Amino acid sequence: MNMSDFKELLARIYEDKTPKTADLAKALAISGKEELHDLFAFADRVRRNFCGDGILLRGIVEFSNFCTKQCFYCGLNKANLKIKRYRMDKDEILDSVKFLAEKNIKTVVLQSGDDPGVDISWLKDIIRKIKSEFDIAVTLSIGERSFEDYQALREAGADRYLLKIETSNESLYDAIHENMSFKRRLRCLDYLRKLKFQVGSGNIIGLPSQTLEMIAQDIIFFKERELDMIGIGPFIPHNDSRFSGQKKGEVVLTLKAIALTRIVTKYAHIPATTALGSLDKDYRLEGLECGANVLMPNFTPQPLRKLYEIYPGKRCVDEPVGECNFCMANMVNSLNRFIDYSRGDSLLTDKEEKNV
Ligand code: SAM
Repeated sequence: MNMSDFKELLARIYEDKTPKTADLAKALAISGKEELHDLFAFADRVRRNFCGDGILLRGIVEFSNFCTKQCFYCGLNKANLKIKRYRMDKDEILDSVKFLAEKNIKTVVLQSGDDPGVDISWLKDIIRKIKSEFDIAVTLSIGERSFEDYQALREAGADRYLLKIETSNESLYDAIHENMSFKRRLRCLDYLRKLKFQVGSGNIIGLPSQTLEMIAQDIIFFKERELDMIGIGPFIPHNDSRFSGQKKGEVVLTLKAIALTRIVTKYAHIPATTALGSLDKDYRLEGLECGANVLMPNFTPQPLRKLYEIYPGKRCVDEPVGECNFCMANMVNSLNRFIDYSRGDSLLTDKEEKNV
């Protein structure tokens, strides 16, 4: 594609209220240096205009690695008998939250496998304590639950919920999640919306047999669902999962997907994911330069952090808690941007048109 055709394509994707799969797939297929530079620079301008230069921080506490699900890509899958399972107790969780709140972080993400051992009244109590003791937003990421469970958690004060669709292609989804269903995943996302959570979702790039058209449709899915947050990370094969030995997701394709997601969704909060930082080098910087505006420092205490091994080579697993702050400050300074220490609520509530 010549450069003027490519610029036209990007302008069309940006302006289109209903972007086309073929346009997005074409943009995902580019490989020329000049085209990539243009795509990333365009996405960076969109990010600046709609989200500003602040980089938001979400401190993550991975409080249980028990899981009853069988996702073919994930190291926490229930068939993995090698992994040592843990569930943090209330005080351990609250200590971690206190620690991150003292670092001035205004969002905690409480994440776990799909763990039925996580009792809803127990979790409600933790949420209430966090909300009464700290000025902090609570994001939950504990998988699929009933409407009533989500409702109870929302009533206890949880603000946001992260549930990745992983792939918006129903056949691919159903093929790589044993005894799970795409329809149920969608239903959970509907529940969360209905309960007025700020809703995050996202996908994995480079899943076996995933095509560019499928990734293009994921981006359309993100737009149609008006998601408040979108996490996009490369697939990293885990030896003790069904996808052991498969090829890992490509960095550049992940960056292209982030850039196009920014151009299409404009206001969504998009993290430079930990998975992007866990490849041959840390590509989170590149993520922040092509549309991302969020970083997620890890506050899971040691030695548990090593055990939350959703994929191998996960970054920072050997670091003491709190180290992330230095590394993030360096990253942000090198970009001439700044850390935004606000809660970073959804930007979708009062949007206005801005020109790029
Ligand atoms: N159980 C919750 C759920 O299903 O939403 C949250 C925990 S789950 C481990 C968090 C995310 O890890 C998943 O949504 C998935 O995108 C990501 N993940 C798991 N295994 C991965 C892998 N091998 N490569 C990249 N991402 C992976």
